[in-house]
Amino acid sequence: SLVVVTGANGFIASHVIQRLLLLEFRVVGTVRSQSKADAVRNTHAQLTPACVDLLTTAIIEDITDPEAYHSLFDSYQPVAVFHLASPFGYSVDNYERDMMQPAVRGTEAVFKAAARSRSVQRIIHTNSFACIYDASLGPRPGYTYTSKDWCPLTYNDGVTAPNPAVAYRASKAVAEKTAWEFMEASDFPGGFDLVSLCPAMVFGPFLDTPFSLPQSPKGLNTSNQLVWDVVSAGEDAAMPPTKGPVWVDVRDVAEAHVKALSDPSLGGKRMLLAQGIYCSQEIADVSSEVARKHSHRIALGSPGKREAHTHFGVDSSVEASDLGIKWRGLAETLSDLLPQLYRIEQTD
Ligand code: NDP
Repeated sequence: SLVVVTGANGFIASHVIQRLLLLEFRVVGTVRSQSKADAVRNTHAQLTPACVDLLTTAIIEDITDPEAYHSLFDSYQPVAVFHLASPFGYSVDNYERDMMQPAVRGTEAVFKAAARSRSVQRIIHTNSFACIYDASLGPRPGYTYTSKDWCPLTYNDGVTAPNPAVAYRASKAVAEKTAWEFMEASDFPGGFDLVSLCPAMVFGPFLDTPFSLPQSPKGLNTSNQLVWDVVSAGEDAAMPPTKGPVWVDVRDVAEAHVKALSDPSLGGKRMLLAQGIYCSQEIADVSSEVARKHSHRIALGSPGKREAHTHFGVDSSVEASDLGIKWRGLAETLSDLLPQLYRIEQTD
């Protein structure tokens, strides 16, 4: 059967597509330019040559255009849509145009088109821990966030946000609410269900091809950039502040997406994808163990010190059991990511 993956060139989407191809799904990946379409096809042609016939790309220039998705679904008759395309970056100046609209109206567009299609049976929507976390309540030491919690940020909070991180969190929270409201509306025609996946900060290796590795550290995706900031700061540098502070490995996130497609019992669920909490010091400590020869590059800080007691925790054990996933630990994630990061720097 055939599935659509939006934002096919993205960090997480590339891993999702690789897994789908290995399972012999036909995949149509959407991107917004021809060069990105070529990069997606070249990536998978190199990694999974036997599956290359299964992958097609389609250009959707405007993520918020329901008609573009309508004609795509009409042509390909997908059984499911993975909606991952959404802005995730902190260098934006117009929060409404660059964050809120693509995230929220992009979600609306996909759902409207799916409701008009006769083929779509499930939407797997990539949301975020940002949709769960309520920053207005402060660091909340001792509190445990789960998928039952909700971020209260509104569309207007996003438009008037004091900084891009708040605008991003609002964009994700409002996009997810828009999705559930669509499903619960009295005029919802039925035909498909929703699985909402809420990953924490996603770290881990890129698909390793010249077409999928970033060209330079400046081109890193937002979450792996946090790791790079710690492991390139230099031994004597101040420890970069922890952002997140919850994380998960990209391969576990990809596996969760694929299971969310194939397990009928997951329909209607909202799932937090999180290994657990972390801090920059822990990234530094684990990195200097797994990449000893680079230890002069890694912020030393105060080895062994942890921020865990200063803020909330998370519990994603229900999800681990529903998905049958054992979350990878930081040592495995960093052992696979760091050699790529230092290589990207060298070829810059
Ligand atoms: P990437 O930045 O690697 O990928 C984002 C994808 O969305 C790209 O394909 C990008 O296309 C597309 N996109 C972004 N803005 C627009 C826009 N305005 N119009 C059209 N397409 C757009 O990020 P990730 O792979 O990390 O993120 C994928 C999804 O996962 C997002 O929904 C993100 O919010 C979510 N997520 C990510 C987490 C993380 O830590 N990485 C954590 C939790 C959730 P282009 O290359 O053309 O810009």
